[in-house]
Amino acid sequence: MPAKMMQFVSVEQRLPDKRPVGERTHDFAEIYGQFTPDRAREQAARCEQCGIPFCQVHCPLHNNIPDWLMLTAEGRLEEAYELASATNNMPEICGRICPQDRLCEGHCVLEKGFRSVTIGAVERFIVDTAFERGWVRPIRPLRERPESVGIVGAGPAGLAAAEQLRKQGFQVHVYDRYDRAGGLLIYGIPGFKLEKPVVLRRIRYLEESGVRFHLRVEIGRDLSFAKLRRRHAALLIATGVYKARDVELPGAGLRGIVKALDYLTASNRKGLGDEVPAFDSGELDAAGKHVVVIGGGDTAMDCVRTAVRQGAKSVRCLYRRDRANMPGSMREVQHAEEEGVEFIWLAAPEAFVGGERVEAVQAHRMRLGTPDATGRQAPEPVPGSSFRLPADLVIKALGFDPEDLPGLWGVPELAVTRWGTIKIDWSTMSTAIPGVFAAGDIVRGASLVVWAVRDGRDAAAAITRHLDARAGAERQVRPALALAS
Ligand code: FAD
Ligand code: SF4
Ligand code: SF4
Repeated sequence: MPAKMMQFVSVEQRLPDKRPVGERTHDFAEIYGQFTPDRAREQAARCEQCGIPFCQVHCPLHNNIPDWLMLTAEGRLEEAYELASATNNMPEICGRICPQDRLCEGHCVLEKGFRSVTIGAVERFIVDTAFERGWVRPIRPLRERPESVGIVGAGPAGLAAAEQLRKQGFQVHVYDRYDRAGGLLIYGIPGFKLEKPVVLRRIRYLEESGVRFHLRVEIGRDLSFAKLRRRHAALLIATGVYKARDVELPGAGLRGIVKALDYLTASNRKGLGDEVPAFDSGELDAAGKHVVVIGGGDTAMDCVRTAVRQGAKSVRCLYRRDRANMPGSMREVQHAEEEGVEFIWLAAPEAFVGGERVEAVQAHRMRLGTPDATGRQAPEPVPGSSFRLPADLVIKALGFDPEDLPGLWGVPELAVTRWGTIKIDWSTMSTAIPGVFAAGDIVRGASLVVWAVRDGRDAAAAITRHLDARAGAERQVRPALALAS
């Protein structure tokens, strides 16, 4: 039966129930529960079914949001799933961790007076339901193709490309230096935003679909780029960005000052049941410590909230700009504040103080000065404003840069931009080396999962065109050779 849409006037926006702070800060489970089917229908029916849906325009995947909202409101969940998965390779993951306030929901027309449709939560509900009811079936391509494609990196960009290429019937091999697939989905992002079984379920689906994973294989160390290239008809580089930005300050070498990703990876590994000596020794465990996190992005938010869950004595976040100018999602800041994190805006470290271990962070106040070339106000120190914060653990979350892949892999012809990201032709996703493509953070710089998925899909389409053209050319050459002989 057609659903009555446009219910936003009488039905209030409601997210899935959020677990109370006292409960959720003691474990790493997701903080939001799941919609009941009735709640999902009710919330989906709030959509106005806009003629020009700005939600869709501002979703990097241009998901057909109004249509899957209507199908959900009508209870036609299997069709909603088909539609949601037609444009997105991991809708249940994006539904959980996209910064919707900056993307689809932030541009929903209802946001202006009635509060947006809860798009992410409905998307997650649709696809979790599809998994539960067995609607997510392994890919069985219409025809198998002989060409193999090698993908370096099993993060969202590599996984999205792998699925798209497998659907075309290619033989897909994914290489990753880690012991588990998933990239930052598995070892970066904490469980309270994205529970690990959700990621592992996606990977199992790809394995059952015939994607071959080669784990613990680091390209450039265990296997050379040249060998890999000879093995496959086309290659995709989706290695992400992992070189942590640093601060050159007095005392920077003291023990107890750690990199964000080392800290988060140890915590995620522990949650997955691994032995983690650096965690077990207390080096990467915040329990009982005064913790200071430096930075204002998503990674910093994940660090502060992880420290709370590990039982830190106090957790402070030091950020050099103000709240309005921080790069992290506002929703995440709000969650962190609810969980007891203290934000110290407009403040930056000037030295780390201690004997062998760090004992305090010496910081100074900042103010926002004149706008720079990008229009952003540059922060500058306020003279004479020093203050000290006690700290047994300092976590540096200052962002990431790409590693020097051409140097590490011995392929100087792999051109990079002035930021060190791999240079591609965006219309073909092709690098400077013919038959080698790139996608995700390694081309964009540190970005978002949804953009990695978009790039992975674009790269898969480009690889398919490339291999189709090659197969077509070979078909033409073969009869010509036969005639000539
Ligand atoms: P990655 O996910 O980094 O995957 C790259 C893979 O390549 C890794 O598995 C790595 O092991 C492998 N690799 C690298 N070099 C080699 C090599 N030489 N040989 C073999 N394998 C190699 N985005 C959001 O949208 N929402 C969030 O809430 C969010 N939170 C985040 C929290 C943290 C802590 C971090 C660090 C990032 C977060 N992001 C978030 C960003 C998001 O995770 C990334 O944009 C996304 O994962 C990029 O995908 P990718 O596939 O390009 O790279
Ligand atoms: Fe919104 Fe992200 Fe889903 Fe797009 S993929 S609809 S931006 S939650
Ligand atoms: Fe529905 Fe909001 Fe999208 Fe309009 S912008 S179609 S109301 S979700």
